[in-house]
Amino acid sequence: MKRTSHLFMLALVLIAPLQKQQVWTANIDQIRRVARMIPGRDPLRINVLKFAESRRAKKFSVKGAPDEPSVQARTVFQVVYADGYVMLDAGMDQQVHNFFGRGVVEPYDLESAKQVEHAVRGARAIIVTHEHGDHVAGVVHTPFANELAPKTILTRDQVQTLLTNPQMPEIKLTPEAAVRYNVVDYEKYLPLGSGIVLIKAPGHTPGSQMIYVVLASGREYLFIGDTAWHMDGVRNIKGKDAPWIQEDENTLVAQLSWLNGLYKTEKNLFIIASHDDEQRMDLVKKGILGNKLE
Ligand SMILES: [Zn+2]
Ligand SMILES: [Zn+2]
Repeated sequence: MKRTSHLFMLALVLIAPLQKQQVWTANIDQIRRVARMIPGRDPLRINVLKFAESRRAKKFSVKGAPDEPSVQARTVFQVVYADGYVMLDAGMDQQVHNFFGRGVVEPYDLESAKQVEHAVRGARAIIVTHEHGDHVAGVVHTPFANELAPKTILTRDQVQTLLTNPQMPEIKLTPEAAVRYNVVDYEKYLPLGSGIVLIKAPGHTPGSQMIYVVLASGREYLFIGDTAWHMDGVRNIKGKDAPWIQEDENTLVAQLSWLNGLYKTEKNLFIIASHDDEQRMDLVKKGILGNKLE
C-alpha cells in the first residue's frame, strides 16, 4: 500500500510540470522584441472594412450577456506600409456568407465585398487569423485562388483543418491546391516583417493565431480574430455561448485572461476583435483605424 502511494506521488510530480506547460500564455515583451527582428520600416496605418453582417443575440457572443440584438461585423484589416500593404483576413463571397445565415438572409454589401476582393488582389501578402470561412474564403473559394495562393501565408494547422475538417464544403482544400500556398509552422511567435508578429493561439480553432502590429508612430495593435466575438468577452473574461461552434474552452479562458491583463495595463495597445461592430465604429471615430481600404 505504502509503495503504491509513493508511486502515485511520483506520478503526480512527473505529470504536474507537463500539465503546467500546456496552459496557454504569451509574453508581450517577447512579442515586441520579435516585432523588431526583421529590419525595415514599420507600417504607417491600419484600415478596416466591414463588408457583411450577422445578426446574433449578444448572449451567444458573451456567456451571461443579455438576450439582446447585436451585430457581428464581417471585416478585413489592411496594414499599410510606405511601399505596399498586408491584408489581415481575406473576406468571403456571398455563397459562404449565406452559410452563416443558416436560412436567414443577412446583409452583404456587394460594393464593399468588391473592394475587399480588389484589396486582396493588390496586397503584397495575405495572412488569416484563422481558417473559418468568413476569414479565409477570400483566398480559397474565389476565381482568383491560384493568383492569391503564392502570396498567402497559411499555417500548417490552418491547412490541416481546410484539408480534413473545413467549416463548410466551399473552403475545403485539395492536397494539390494546398501546396500552392506558403505554409508555415512555428511554436509561439513568428516575425512576418518589420512591425508584424504572428502569435500562435489555438482555441477558437486549431489554426487560430493573433497578429501583433506596431506602427512607426509606436501605436500597437493586437488582432485577436475570433478569440472573442465581442470585446466584453475580454473585459469580463467570458467565453462564447454558441452551441454551433466547438472551441477548446480552457485555452480560450487562458487567452482571455492574458488579453484582459493587457487591456487593463497597456494603454497604447489596441486589442481588436474581428466581429465587434461597436468597437469598429469607436476606433474609426477616434482615428485609430481608417474606414476604407487603399
Ligand atoms: Zn471563427
Ligand atoms: Zn469569424
